[in-house]
Amino acid sequence: MNTEEIQPEQVAGPVPVLAVIGRPNVGKSTLVNRILGRREAVVEDVPGVTRDRVSYDAVWNGRAFTVVDTGGWDPDARGMAERIAAQAEIAIGLADATLFVVDATVGITDADEAVVKILRKSGKPVILAANKVDDERAEAEAYGLWNLGLGEPYPVSALHGRGSGDLLDAVLAALPEPPPEQDTPLGGPRRIAIVGRPNVGKSSLLNRLAGEERVVVDNVAGTTVDPVDELVELGGRTWRFIDTAGIRKRVKEASGHEYYAWLRTSTAIERAEVCVLVLDAEQSVAEQDMRILQEVREAGKALVIAFNKWDLVDDERRYYLDREIERDLVQVQWAPRINITARTGWHVDRLVPALDKAIEGWETRISTGALNAFLGRLVAEHPHPVRSGKQPRILFGTQPQTSPPTFALFTTGKLDAGYERYIERRLREQFGFVGTPIVINVKPRE
Ligand code: GDP
Ligand code: GDP
Repeated sequence: MNTEEIQPEQVAGPVPVLAVIGRPNVGKSTLVNRILGRREAVVEDVPGVTRDRVSYDAVWNGRAFTVVDTGGWDPDARGMAERIAAQAEIAIGLADATLFVVDATVGITDADEAVVKILRKSGKPVILAANKVDDERAEAEAYGLWNLGLGEPYPVSALHGRGSGDLLDAVLAALPEPPPEQDTPLGGPRRIAIVGRPNVGKSSLLNRLAGEERVVVDNVAGTTVDPVDELVELGGRTWRFIDTAGIRKRVKEASGHEYYAWLRTSTAIERAEVCVLVLDAEQSVAEQDMRILQEVREAGKALVIAFNKWDLVDDERRYYLDREIERDLVQVQWAPRINITARTGWHVDRLVPALDKAIEGWETRISTGALNAFLGRLVAEHPHPVRSGKQPRILFGTQPQTSPPTFALFTTGKLDAGYERYIERRLREQFGFVGTPIVINVKPRE
């Protein structure tokens, strides 16, 4: 299957969300990879942080949507059917349409039946994929799935790609058309996700920003029961805050609670242009914060870091906080940081300028001429070290994309990871790129 790289120009406004659900091992992750055309992100590994992205941008036939992959989460064997059902309910709640995957070689199980009940209740569009139909012979098995009462089963082989085009056509037909955005001609209001651990002050911040009157409840995701996004006016402009339902609603302590929170966070990041990571300034940066930062970087979003509860920070805490920032936030040194007290509103007005700065960096484009002049100087000052008698040279560079800034370097060989970091550092010194990750793709010509 051929999935084009998303150009930011194509993604005007928020895109619809497709959740891929089903029992463990039916092939959800394989199918998601197929939908994504196995687009691989270039990411440097952060030790101690597991890679657990669940939401991705996808494009089929020129239409963009967000795919939520629930494949990474396997409920334990105890109470399996109920857990699968609970997981499905969460994912369906987030989505505009659901791709329900069944293993056609196994047929329908109790767990599948439980999910079907929830799907019916949700009233949202469902596309039924009968997976592992690897050849024509196996197609007969798919027909038994008509019994589920979810309409036509689409026989597909996620592994080999068989039938996946028809399946994706059906997915597109089920997803709502993105609503036309009237606020600005280009892409509509900026999309912001407020993310962070529980109790850091996300909803306090949102309430501060939105006030009570100025909130426009906007039922973006058509059939979704929760109003998902809110339009908020700040600094004379309208901004779209993503998945505020997830922030405002207190999530019940339940099995899979953490997974629930993560699914929401990951999907919000994917749907946003710029993320505000809220940290409790009284507390040290935690593993969960690192996970969120990792996700923001992998998803290539702009970032602002807000240290909240500044009213509780005294000189001693300040001293340690500065050291923690140096140690734990070194990977995102480029992100604008603001210190705020959401409870009183102190310095909350600094958020908009920080967002503007981050978005500006995220959308910066360097002309090919300026980039190559810069690369020429960089190499002259600090050439790549010689490796086993060879010295990789940079022949030419371009920046084919913004949002985030993405560079292609044509070289005579692979570059050291350290040298790539050096290039990134110098790019930032020279051109700013405040508030945005940078992607460098090295293309050796040999
Ligand atoms: P998940 O737990 O639902 O995400 O399932 P995975 O995507 O991890 O797949 C589970 C297993 O089924 C893996 O061994 C896959 O290779 C296999 N699988 C997935 N899709 C197909 C398919 O279309 N045909 C066959 N024969 N195997 C498949
Ligand atoms: P959320 O779970 O991230 O949405 O956090 P909340 O907005 O619900 O806040 C969690 C707790 O922190 C509440 O008791 C808030 O009153 C408190 N809180 C939020 N912002 C501040 C702040 O700026 N200073 C202080 N001292 N407390 C705050």
